[in-house]
Amino acid sequence: MVETRVDPATTLSFSVGGQTQTLALGKDMVIGSRAEKPSIDIKDSDVVFVGYGVNAPEQNWNDYDGVDVNGKTVVMLINDPGFLRKDESLFKGRAMTYYGRWTYKFEEAARQGAKAALIVHNTEPAAYGWDVVVNSWTGPAHDLPLSEDPEKRIDAQGWITLNAAKALFAADGKDFEKLMLEADAPGFKAVPLHATASSWIKLSMENKFSHNAVAILPGSEKPGESVLYMGHWDHLGVNASSDGEDHIFNGAIDNASGVSGALEIAHAFSAMASKPARSIVILLPTLEESGLLGSKYFAAHPPINLAKLAAVINMDALPIRGRNADMGVIGQGQSADLEALLLDQLKAQGRTMEPEAAPEKGFFFRSDHFNFAKQGVPALYARAGLTHVDKGAAYGQQWSDDYTSNRYHKPADAFDPNWDYAGLIDDLNLYFEVGKRLSVAGQWPTWSESSEFRTAREASSSERTD
Ligand SMILES: [Zn+2]
Repeated sequence: MVETRVDPATTLSFSVGGQTQTLALGKDMVIGSRAEKPSIDIKDSDVVFVGYGVNAPEQNWNDYDGVDVNGKTVVMLINDPGFLRKDESLFKGRAMTYYGRWTYKFEEAARQGAKAALIVHNTEPAAYGWDVVVNSWTGPAHDLPLSEDPEKRIDAQGWITLNAAKALFAADGKDFEKLMLEADAPGFKAVPLHATASSWIKLSMENKFSHNAVAILPGSEKPGESVLYMGHWDHLGVNASSDGEDHIFNGAIDNASGVSGALEIAHAFSAMASKPARSIVILLPTLEESGLLGSKYFAAHPPINLAKLAAVINMDALPIRGRNADMGVIGQGQSADLEALLLDQLKAQGRTMEPEAAPEKGFFFRSDHFNFAKQGVPALYARAGLTHVDKGAAYGQQWSDDYTSNRYHKPADAFDPNWDYAGLIDDLNLYFEVGKRLSVAGQWPTWSESSEFRTAREASSSERTD
């Protein structure tokens, strides 16, 4: 992997209406580059407002239609069309699609040939404040080396504040608030500005190494077909400026729990008297917390045929707070087939399926299974619900709030001998049974009609003949 840091001397400015607007790093903008160059110099690149920057054939929506952005700087909104006017008929209503994620927007801008891409921050559609953007963009950024990453990259990518965007558009005689609403409705056409962007980005880079761990139990009948379980093994390492006695981010729940689960599942399949027809793959990816890089590398250089990978099951932070009466699927609606398999097992355990708690936050795109989804492989990512079997929903909520504020991504996410494993065992039994069903030859779960990953899977359908 490559670790990149942006030098504080980095600049971004707009030339518009005869004036120069200089944006301050951290205050008005953040910017970086994944181009693996020590510096990027952009001079007077034409600015184009491309709405949400979305090109979604299955939604019949293309913000780049009829506009050439080659070598230009695109400015765009966060989230996906319909969000601002609360139009439930567009895309997936309140739920965020991949087109709403900032990562997608930079990928699409790169495919369109743009030189630079700037997302306008807006707290509600982003689901986080400007401080979160600044925090995650001012530390080191991690990437696969260019040579290992098949995806196209853009020279410069960043965010600007809503106020900076309003000032830019106003200087060109345009009302940004009005344009935002136009971009939110069908029929929007990209708007070229009478403005140019210039940026000088200075970067320091360092190569680093980490490892994925992979184990394969060959299938007894169809070893070329497989089912994959995963749980990321990395966490945040050591940070001397953090709280805690030893400053070690143990990541006991996030995600030693998932790793232990994956090892137990490996053990359970190995112990079966008659081995599954399909291969069972156990993947413990690294660098999940650094941009899902371990799983990205695996999916880009797979030691198995992804076209014949029936599905992936991701375990990230398993419950250690006792039995839970319910479970929720993250990215609910993406694969009705996989959800049906899960629901069968939930029913067998006397549990229920809860609607996804915060579909607008796009959690489906923020853990390792997502790199498989992008390659078309159906992915299941579920989480135990908050209703404790004996102590009720209030207990679960209280536990979750305490975890989020006191332990999540902190040294305090440490092993506790008082953990209650009953709920974790329920979940592992359930994942084992779902995988066992998928390990029978002939089962090819699909993405739902509305899924943005369906097209990628269909491209390899000829390889799944039985
Ligand atoms: Zn995690």
